[in-house]
Amino acid sequence: MIVDLTEILEKPKQYRFSLPIEWWESDIPGDQIQGLDKPLEVRITIERIGSRFAVNGSLNTGLLLQCDRCLDIFHQDLTCEFQVYLESVPDDWEPDEEVELLEEEMGVDLIRGEEVELEDIIREQIYLSLPMKILCKEDCQGLCPVCGANRNRQPCCCQVVQGHPAFQKLKALK
Ligand SMILES: [Zn+2]
Ligand SMILES: [Zn+2]
Repeated sequence: MIVDLTEILEKPKQYRFSLPIEWWESDIPGDQIQGLDKPLEVRITIERIGSRFAVNGSLNTGLLLQCDRCLDIFHQDLTCEFQVYLESVPDDWEPDEEVELLEEEMGVDLIRGEEVELEDIIREQIYLSLPMKILCKEDCQGLCPVCGANRNRQPCCCQVVQGHPAFQKLKALK
């Protein structure tokens, strides 16, 4: 959904819509988010504050995530609230270091022209809501480094060598 920021005057504008499951298309191999399993409910308010726009939103959906340890796909509910600031810059504008700092420190997103694609903001916020490490469960046993079996499902009998192999040889010699 594209919003024309010039239409936002003194009064904040509210947007409420739902994106279908098919909306999330993952074309990045090994993407942590494999898809949605519930429509994505979006509520967004955009308010003009001086030369900037404050975007407040809330998202609600179900995510299909890939576990970092065992690579299984699992469901996780997502409910998040966010706030970002937008500032519009001319189309031919060239970014410099100072501006990157502004973006990072102040949480200001610079957008070219007067139009903003809300779906880009939503996608970014979903990624930001993810934890550093995505685990299907806290004590996920992961994959066996020898045979590759998912240790949550089937314990295998592989011997996992502890320490450096050279030390094992040394031990055997003694
Ligand atoms: Zn796992
Ligand atoms: Zn194994």
